[in-house]
Amino acid sequence: MPQNGPIILRVAVPTPLRRTFDYIFPENLTKKIDGDLPLPGSRVTIEFGRRTLVALIIEVTDSSAIALEKMKPIKDLLDSAPILSPELLKLFIWAANYYQHPIGEALFTALPALLRKGEATELPAVKHWKVTQLGLSTGTASLDRAPRQMALLQFLKDKTALPESELTGCFSATIRNQVEEKGLIESFLAQHEPQPASDELLQQANLTLDSQQQIAMDAIELHGFSCNLLEGVTGSGKTEIYLQAIEKTLRYNRQALVLIPEISLTPQTEKRFTDRFNTPIVSLHSGMTDKQRLEAWIKAKSGEAKIILGTRSAIFTVFDDLGLIILDEEHDSSYKQQDGFKYSARDLAVIRAQREAIPVILGSATPSLESLNNCIEGRYQHLTLTQRANNATAPSWRVIDLKTEATNCGIAQSTLDAIQQRLAAQQQVLVFLNRRGYAPALVCHNCGWSADCPKCDSKLTFHRARARLICHHCDYQQRKTQHCPSCKSTELMTAGEGTEQSEEFLARHFPDNEVIRIDRDSTRRKGAMQEFFATADSGKPCILVGTQMLAKGHHFENVTLVVILDADSGLMSADFRSHERIGQLLVQVAGRSGRGKLKGEVIVQTHQPEHPVLDQLFNQGYRPLAMQLLEQRQQGMLPPYRPLAVIRAESAYPNQAMELLNLARKLCDQQRGIETDIQCLGPLPALMEKRAGRFRFILQVTAPHRGQLQGCLSAVANQLDNEKLAQKVRWSIDVDPHEL
Ligand code: ADP
Ligand code: ZN
Ligand code: ZN
Repeated sequence: MPQNGPIILRVAVPTPLRRTFDYIFPENLTKKIDGDLPLPGSRVTIEFGRRTLVALIIEVTDSSAIALEKMKPIKDLLDSAPILSPELLKLFIWAANYYQHPIGEALFTALPALLRKGEATELPAVKHWKVTQLGLSTGTASLDRAPRQMALLQFLKDKTALPESELTGCFSATIRNQVEEKGLIESFLAQHEPQPASDELLQQANLTLDSQQQIAMDAIELHGFSCNLLEGVTGSGKTEIYLQAIEKTLRYNRQALVLIPEISLTPQTEKRFTDRFNTPIVSLHSGMTDKQRLEAWIKAKSGEAKIILGTRSAIFTVFDDLGLIILDEEHDSSYKQQDGFKYSARDLAVIRAQREAIPVILGSATPSLESLNNCIEGRYQHLTLTQRANNATAPSWRVIDLKTEATNCGIAQSTLDAIQQRLAAQQQVLVFLNRRGYAPALVCHNCGWSADCPKCDSKLTFHRARARLICHHCDYQQRKTQHCPSCKSTELMTAGEGTEQSEEFLARHFPDNEVIRIDRDSTRRKGAMQEFFATADSGKPCILVGTQMLAKGHHFENVTLVVILDADSGLMSADFRSHERIGQLLVQVAGRSGRGKLKGEVIVQTHQPEHPVLDQLFNQGYRPLAMQLLEQRQQGMLPPYRPLAVIRAESAYPNQAMELLNLARKLCDQQRGIETDIQCLGPLPALMEKRAGRFRFILQVTAPHRGQLQGCLSAVANQLDNEKLAQKVRWSIDVDPHEL
């Protein structure tokens, strides 16, 4: 950069404004930087309006559209070196543009909270304790008369060193000081926990890959960019491939990022990684405190942590030297952020891998239609595992037609018989119902009244244990009434079933066996999930009843029967992804059955056994279903064949939301040219029109090519930003939406 005038910093500020801001870098701050110029990716504090904000340097330049005398200096430079690498900063900017999200907000939602607040990116030094040379050579005999002191020495002897916080619970300051005075232990300050000096990377041997696994493993090129879709039936040993690919990456001295869909999966998954590797692994997920997140982030950046295991937002982690990205259950919707910065961690993983020239492995038993299409079009390498590892066989499907068989609390007699048999054979049963609560509706038998949410287009769910009616969309709650508010009759009845009811019914029916319910209500208590899994892992005959929390990734050795109580919910939805989703969900749930030595079975209860989606799934499997759905998407000119974006608007006043989208449509139409075939559909009411007191509408926008759609969306966004109406209505753009 030619240097004649002052240095100008173009910064991203955490505001919903779609632009950057220019500030002067004052000379008195020069002493704070490592080199000649401040660098993009460093944080500064600025005066913004009447507030002081933390902002991030996007660009360092010497020219600006703003007159110099109108430009303010930054107040302070927080980092002497950038906290984001140039590649990662470019990825952020790319993502903000692609997802049409204001750059400042995009950057700041993805950084750990404490960094947003200006916290330092160094860990504070903490006091550690270790045994001295004298302590190592002296036997504990000298402490014969002081058992606590002896215990402390003993405790520290087989460790390299420990932070003081891990000693305070068991050894008082007095004890520590006494042993220190004898010269047997000493304290020191350190930022990082010293690692055991072991050169063995693996603490548990790799499994010998079977032939399919070996073929897949050999095909994954670990140098340079490659995108690999690992499609392996549930239990086929995908995780073993992840572990071995990570091992190779670590042997090149590079780090690995492993993304998983949800926090409920972390304990089990984390264990498989920590069991295998003798190397620091850190987790990054929403269940952590801000301090823990920052610590994990710093360890990834410094290179201290070799494996980072995280949920969606971990895709924005800074690494010292990232060598591999793995994204498990790649089809899972939780990779797409649904509000605010609506990015897809899966798609960003591929972009990031490409930019950093490293491989990415997307794994799933039920790959998304997008990824399958990318394989068909030759962009991804398609690797398949069709058999279960460990000689386990695929479970068989059995369909129960509810049109011909009656149910009690949603469960058919032949289902009960099948459960009975499994329990008698000392095996476990998993019962899946994707509705929590006792019943999804409460109705009056006398007049037909039903308990509806006053703020949403939805019914209230009856939760019996809490004696409350709760809306699952906006969390509105009220006590359950004894009388119908409309006709005062006492004949109120529940309609349909939720997990609470299934649990109660099964517990009554099988009094000799434990029935464990796993859903968002039952696992709210800290540690509850671990307790439930401990029972399941014990292998004793029991019934697990639960929602999709049970569907994901868990490995229950002794579950041999999976019952899907209601395969119909989800078939009716008008969302273009609903059939793909139900197919994935059913296969994932079914995959919990027979993962051990015993053969598994899946019972599906449905009113529509002849439904083409179910029919194809049960008789031919997921892949043929996916191929058929892809064909329908192609005919309907839907993703992945045509890029789609949705502009959403919501307001307490339905006409204002509609009006905004009508305007958006007009602006889109103006973008249409000879070469740009922008198509709009709508404005239409959202699938749930009223939610939490707001009326919601959508406008679908498509174009034959991404570039055209992007161009149109950013023009429309900029124009809408200047509209008065856009200040009153809550609106947003969702690129590659997962839901309508
Ligand atoms: P997936 O991730 O595809 O669902 P997992 O990696 O969990 O499958 O593997 C299922 C089971 O098979 C696990 O208990 C795992 O230890 C075992 N397994 C995987 N690969 C092998 C192998 N090559 N030899 C023996 N057992 C294996
Ligand atoms: Zn009534
Ligand atoms: Zn509601």
